[in-house]
Amino acid sequence: MNYYSTNKQSPLVDLQDAVVNGLAPDKGLYMPERIQRLPDSFFDTIAAKSFHEIADEVAVAFFGEDIDPRIVKALTEDTLSFDTPLVPAGDVYALELFHGPTLAFKDVGARFMARVLQYFIERQGVDDVRILVATSGDTGSAVANGFLGMEGIRVYVLYPKGKVSPIQECQFTTLGKNITALEIDGTFDDCQALVKQAFLDPELTSRMQLTSANSINVARFLPQAFYYFHAYAQWRRLGIEVDPVICVPSGNFGNLTAGLIAWRMGLPIKRFIAANNRNDVFLEYLQTGVYAPRPSVQTLANAMDVGNPSNFARILDLFNHDYRSITSIISGYSCSDEDIRETIKNCYETTGYLLDPHGACGYAALRQGLRSGERGLFLETAHPAKFKDTVEPIIGQNVEIPERLQAFMKGEKRSVALGKDFEGFKRFLSAD
Ligand SMILES: *Cc1c(COP(=O)(O)O)cnc(C)c1O
Repeated sequence: MNYYSTNKQSPLVDLQDAVVNGLAPDKGLYMPERIQRLPDSFFDTIAAKSFHEIADEVAVAFFGEDIDPRIVKALTEDTLSFDTPLVPAGDVYALELFHGPTLAFKDVGARFMARVLQYFIERQGVDDVRILVATSGDTGSAVANGFLGMEGIRVYVLYPKGKVSPIQECQFTTLGKNITALEIDGTFDDCQALVKQAFLDPELTSRMQLTSANSINVARFLPQAFYYFHAYAQWRRLGIEVDPVICVPSGNFGNLTAGLIAWRMGLPIKRFIAANNRNDVFLEYLQTGVYAPRPSVQTLANAMDVGNPSNFARILDLFNHDYRSITSIISGYSCSDEDIRETIKNCYETTGYLLDPHGACGYAALRQGLRSGERGLFLETAHPAKFKDTVEPIIGQNVEIPERLQAFMKGEKRSVALGKDFEGFKRFLSAD
């Protein structure tokens, strides 16, 4: 399968080049040339299938032309070492994506990408690679843990100083081995800009193989489609007659884009709701047709503090830039920090379900957005214990930290402090 750039100014590439390069030379994002519609028989029997069976079939549809399907299945099953259960939260459902090693949905994409990249390095003779990843919190931990100890891969996690919770920080600053944490004196957008600039720097790219593990990478964002299919299988088992409305708490919009791809593959989803925090340029686009990126502001749902979502380019591309088609399937919603607090409190008191700040945006957006006769689910993208400092005062109770999270907190923090200027970052990378 070939991949094209959303900017249409770069040559087509195969999966290996799309994964290893991350971003296309024309700064566009890679998209699969074809999105394969799965057969009706797959959907007719999906309720009887396991998560692994479902994901195997979806993964082979994506990657089976480039990697032996038996290997694709092995990589997929190794990635999905945990479940993504659909759990009731009052009158809606939470698709819990936080049962992986770092307790956030990004474990799925990061683990898959690490395995695919290692396959290319071992079997295809790809040279050592360096992964650059900008994080507003959860990406860094998922990627660092997904790639930890992998031969031939070095990971650099760039994160905004003081804007990541201590629990998040320890998940990528305490690992050592092939993981280096870079504490940038700036915002998440500055971190993202440094990474993008590095890929476009001829001196760096001629000296080292750089790649990205942000959701711009196809091996990270496509596998996120797996759990949309699994959610639907569970939905069917619940016996709900109508197709689900799916609400996605969104930052860089990789997760929502993966959902749109699942829908294009034939998954019966009624429509999508994109939940934003105050960083709501996407909602503004839906309302006005004008996309006006702006600097991000800090919120309680910090993994969604993105002012210029990278996957917006993919959404435009999927719909041939047709505003009407986009607004016919996606609606939006914006949550203030006050809304997030109220939602966590209300949901906990009325249903007993404890949301994290990101899931709270999803829950609020879904319940506000559901129309008469519709039923829905939202993606619960992180475990509430990752945001203990926010959640505990709101509900007035302790939140227990799962053991695998506690283990990170015992480690010693090690990071390299850098400014937000590109030259300093470049010097560091060149010398390392
Ligand atoms: C990354 C992240 C998001 C945003 O996902 P995108 O794919 O960037 O839209 C939402 N919630 C949590 C907890 C995250 O880590």
